[in-house]
Amino acid sequence: MSAVSLQAPRGTRDILAPDSARLRALAETFADAAELAGYGQVVSPMFEQIEVFRRVGEATDIVSKEMYEFRDPGDRRLALRPELTASLARAFVQHRPTLPWKAWYEGPQFRYEKPQAGRFRQFNQVGAELFGSDDPQADVEVIALAWRFCTSLGLRELRLVVNSLGDRADRERYLGALSAHFEQRAAGLSAQGRETLDRNPLRLLDSKRPADLAVVAGAPAVDDYWSEAAAGHFGAVLSGLEALGIPFERNPRLVRGLDYYRRTAFELASDALDGAQDAVGGGGRYDGLVADLGGPEVPGVGFALGVDRLLLACDAEGAFPPPPGAADVFVVDVTGGGEATLLAEELRGAGVRAERAFDGRSMKAQMKAADRSGARWALLVGPDELADGVVSMREMRGHGAGHAGASVQRRVARSDVVGEVVRAAGEGSTR
Ligand code: AMP
Repeated sequence: MSAVSLQAPRGTRDILAPDSARLRALAETFADAAELAGYGQVVSPMFEQIEVFRRVGEATDIVSKEMYEFRDPGDRRLALRPELTASLARAFVQHRPTLPWKAWYEGPQFRYEKPQAGRFRQFNQVGAELFGSDDPQADVEVIALAWRFCTSLGLRELRLVVNSLGDRADRERYLGALSAHFEQRAAGLSAQGRETLDRNPLRLLDSKRPADLAVVAGAPAVDDYWSEAAAGHFGAVLSGLEALGIPFERNPRLVRGLDYYRRTAFELASDALDGAQDAVGGGGRYDGLVADLGGPEVPGVGFALGVDRLLLACDAEGAFPPPPGAADVFVVDVTGGGEATLLAEELRGAGVRAERAFDGRSMKAQMKAADRSGARWALLVGPDELADGVVSMREMRGHGAGHAGASVQRRVARSDVVGEVVRAAGEGSTR
């Protein structure tokens, strides 16, 4: 019988320490940034009734081709969430919170895409949404949050690209003009381009296929279709960004993957990432979304950032290293291991990161493990220490003040040792 080797499904990964700690630190950094701006966290289900996504994006690949759909044992038609804006709009309609409703989220999304570097079938996003305001200053606040968060990670090679898709009627007129333009030139498009044209001509604008590029280059520009109100709104957003000193580029061809966007659209890209997958996130205004889900005409603006991409960009720029995972203390117990259990638990109770060995290993083996752990101190418990009611506290190599190779050891009363470690760690942390 041959053993089948079981692996994580294609397009998914196990994220082990220290990368998992970095992922958590990133989410915490985002939570801090969002909560400073008055956004509260929403934890919504990983799956929704399929209608939630169907209603908002029938014409998009994410909904039509990439959804993980299933029936549960109660014969309900459900889908793993491919994104969270629709879920939040559904939650808004369900709970009717007071306006403006400012919400942030983080967590995995699921899309049946072709896996490649920076593109997975399960990936993490952080994001924020502001429901209930038409004010261009709301767009500015949301973009500023995304920008402030990304720069707080230490990212420098970021590009903010902005556009406006106009109001619903503008967008319809623009779509008509775009379709006419592309249909007249359909013979020049790639086969895939023609397929995109049938489904959603807007999406052709961000085609990267060479054949399509020439046809796209002559396409009508969205600016010519803006209503006065939409043009005024976009002007105010750009002035707001300028006032904050947030640099941006205008790209009249920027469209977003989902159908519900109106007016402002934006994308954050990293020049440190490979061109094809350089988008770290994006968002915009979606004034029709809540109504599409059966709610009142409530406008909204928000964004989602891809955490995996953000971390790749951080790697490329040497930013946001994993948080230190090393233990503070390693308890070396050669009296059977029970003392190590007691001491380690006492230390952990006092907030000290304490490690220990198992299986009654030799002094030498335990010291090696202590070294590998990166701990600053080893606490040694041998028969002598046990008899005298003390613990030997040794500063590990590389941690001593200036004298590499030397290790300083002293005996501390067993009853004082936790306090002593806490005190010494406190001194260490201010260095
Ligand atoms: P979207 O929800 O499509 O606007 O995507 C927002 C961001 O999520 C993108 O800019 C990417 O950084 C990230 N993202 C989208 N799809 C994937 C994926 N399949 N794998 C990894 N990151 C993704």
